[in-house]
Amino acid sequence: MVDLLIENGHILTMTGRGVGLIENGSIAIEAGKIARVGKWHEVSRTCGGSERKIDATGKVVMPGLVDAHIHSRLALLRGEAQDVPETEWMIKTVAPLAKYIDEDSAVKGSALGALEGVKSGTTLFGDYGPNMDRTLREVYSQIGVRANVCSPINEISSLSGQDANKLYEFDSNVGEQKLKENLRLTQTWHNALDGRVTCCLGPHAADMMSTELLLRVRDIAEEKGLMMHFHLAQGGRENTQIRLRYGKSTVRYLDEIDFLGPKLMGVHCHGASMDELRIIAERGVRMIGCPSSIALIDGIVSPLHAYLEAGGRSAALGSDQACGNNCHNMFSEMKIAALLNKVRENDPTVLPSWRILRLATVEGAETLGLREKVGSLEPGKEADIILVDLKKPHLTPLLSRPVRNLAPNLVYSARGSEVVTTIVGGQIIMDQGKVLTVEEDRILEDAQRAAERVTSRAEKEFFAARSRLAQDMREGLL
Ligand SMILES: [Zn+2]
Repeated sequence: MVDLLIENGHILTMTGRGVGLIENGSIAIEAGKIARVGKWHEVSRTCGGSERKIDATGKVVMPGLVDAHIHSRLALLRGEAQDVPETEWMIKTVAPLAKYIDEDSAVKGSALGALEGVKSGTTLFGDYGPNMDRTLREVYSQIGVRANVCSPINEISSLSGQDANKLYEFDSNVGEQKLKENLRLTQTWHNALDGRVTCCLGPHAADMMSTELLLRVRDIAEEKGLMMHFHLAQGGRENTQIRLRYGKSTVRYLDEIDFLGPKLMGVHCHGASMDELRIIAERGVRMIGCPSSIALIDGIVSPLHAYLEAGGRSAALGSDQACGNNCHNMFSEMKIAALLNKVRENDPTVLPSWRILRLATVEGAETLGLREKVGSLEPGKEADIILVDLKKPHLTPLLSRPVRNLAPNLVYSARGSEVVTTIVGGQIIMDQGKVLTVEEDRILEDAQRAAERVTSRAEKEFFAARSRLAQDMREGLL
């Protein structure tokens, strides 16, 4: 007798080299973990019955998706910072608004971002942001998903100006306090909530902290066996700062101080040259690419294929923030990652659909250092599973033998709204497209009100900054 049996699905186990398809498959779940996976007759007939059954006829059954890099609290700023030059994005659009996001509003934003992710199949969020306790308590633990979190460690002084061409001022007291905060977060939350929460260290970026602090964080990560979540080679402002301070590129600087290594999750990497991507790959750094966000903010393609081609250990996809990407939907992220990388390389064979699905699942989990636990459907792993309804015009026809179109259809046609059931650690948190653990309408209403409050308070500063977007709004163009 098992707790839950999922039967008759097209199971993508993500084991082996590809998607590991099992037709007419069943999965038995016991005590929150996957007990057995296989053909219906191998699992359903021999497991001795189940407390509960889910009929997955006509559905894909696959691991929950991994959104490896998200600033969930910024979901309130959806659609409020795009179509501006990269140099304006932070200073003239995000900053004047973000300044008015108080802690209550931030939690409402996080709830909105997480809800959107869950409804489109995400079960593991790599959330990067300050004051994470409330987000964990009031958002992730309530919804019941998995979160890998850290708080930002930087030492930007409050006296530091916003001009990218003048060196930022560092304050070692600020660095000390932020490092302490991240360590406290780790002590409080690492492996909490039945292991659904894991923590890492969050050194912000090479231009935002001293060499001494970077190396301290690296040593602590090594000593405590923690991963580091780090914005790496973000180009633009970072590039200017690092050249001013050290007279070289970010990657060369970090390599010289011996910061690059297998404990590092490097987010973005679009500022790295091909040679530098090779260095990143050789040092064992894991890459998180956020293709939609970097396309919208920088007009650059996240170099996921180039990193992997250079021998990179593993890569993941991230949705970043809603004032960049505009959404936290890993199905759209998968398609955009594939399309942009094919265009960047002028080669339609790069990042095929089956590989993209792996980046969003098993390789995403590997990148966050959580592959032992999640990312594929295998006995012993946590039962983090989504069911995708294939009975849709845009997912028809469904062909599995000998011609197969399941993986391309999921990556190039699915929109995320086809996810009907979501299971995390064996618990059904979404059924028939409805999240069972929280009130969806309340989250939307709260976020709406919070966003209205933030924008009305920020109105004067937002328009005074005279970004291109603000001017377009003034002229009534959008
Ligand atoms: Zn980020």
